Amino acid sequence: MIIGVPREIKNNEFRVGMTPAGVAEFVAHGHTVLVEHGAGEGSSFPDEDYAAAGARLVGRAAELFGEAELVVKVKEPQPSEMPLLRTGQVLFAFLHLAPDRSQTERLVRSGAVCIAYETVELPDGRLPLLAPMSEVAGRMSAQVGAALLQRPNGGRGVLMGGVPGVPPANVLILGAGSVGCNAAYVARGMGANVSVMDVDLDRLRQLDRFWGNTVHTLHSNRHDLERQVSEADLVIGAVLVAGARTPVLVTRKMVAAMKPRAVVVDVSVDQGGCVETSRPTSHDEPSFLAEDVLHYAVTNMPGAVPYTSTLALTHATLRHALALADRGWRQAVQEDPALARGVNVLDGQITHRTVADAHGMDF
Ligand code: NAD
Repeated sequence: MIIGVPREIKNNEFRVGMTPAGVAEFVAHGHTVLVEHGAGEGSSFPDEDYAAAGARLVGRAAELFGEAELVVKVKEPQPSEMPLLRTGQVLFAFLHLAPDRSQTERLVRSGAVCIAYETVELPDGRLPLLAPMSEVAGRMSAQVGAALLQRPNGGRGVLMGGVPGVPPANVLILGAGSVGCNAAYVARGMGANVSVMDVDLDRLRQLDRFWGNTVHTLHSNRHDLERQVSEADLVIGAVLVAGARTPVLVTRKMVAAMKPRAVVVDVSVDQGGCVETSRPTSHDEPSFLAEDVLHYAVTNMPGAVPYTSTLALTHATLRHALALADRGWRQAVQEDPALARGVNVLDGQITHRTVADAHGMDF
């Protein structure tokens, strides 16, 4: 099969869909891999390494999309890439369709088979291709929050760990999944006073077993949330209902009741966000003020640490991408129910229930 790895063109996206090690694996399986010139540069993988691994380097995205039967990339196709997709071509990437109607409609019209990393789901509900990026974004969210809390960056001037005699920052994490646990891991390491809220008591039990009472676990409900948000210096939004738009848990009124210049890092913004006042931002202009609270809502946080992120992502995607190439997408999804859950668009139809529901479209 011919596999294409384009250069990512989304704002400040420096990751790449395949490393030279991945290319070598595909080549060993008898496939041809086309890599766009400079695709790995942002992640510190030079063209020469791809060539040495057996890739054919191509100059233009149009050429790559034109030849490839399977396109492996990181982020959703950007407007200039949309017309390059064609019927029957397989697209394997992060898509996040639930909050993005225009992309959904364009992918439906393209006729391509669109398999979304974020909805590949194991029978127990775990999301193996989202998890590595959630680990990165979660750990980053505490770092970013700590930086934004500094006065010169617009925050209220609170040091995460405090100092002897001065209390640490109150960090409230909404969601105890991959993002939430990793955010807690770093925030706790910085010495902050960390609380994690979730509706899933088993997740909270796991946290409690792991960290004992050094992290407070709280059941997520409107009443308690309101109080916790008002006391927080930093709120990290890490909620997910797989495939669906994120439920808005923190209303504008709750944000308005926060301490002046407190910080919100809404990691879940890529699925719509769990804070009413957040809106998607980019690494160019990552933060903004709303209700006198500093918001950070970058949709591709891991793009800022591309070396780490590319390795983490491709370690998780490679096995599935190889299955798609080796067996063809139909057989690969028949044999692997987790991968089948990743198919969002097929034959001009939405094939993931939560995505269809989000847009009121046929399933
Ligand atoms: P996850 O499924 O591991 O965890 C989500 C958690 O949210 C679960 O524990 C679930 O029980 C909890 N939850 C659901 N409804 C809730 C509610 N009403 N109150 C409290 N908790 C609730 O998901 P994850 O991998 O941690 O991802 C979280 C979000 O971060 C997703 O939207 C994901 O797309 C996003 N994400 C964003 C970036 C970025 O760059 N901005 C990067 C990675 C992941």
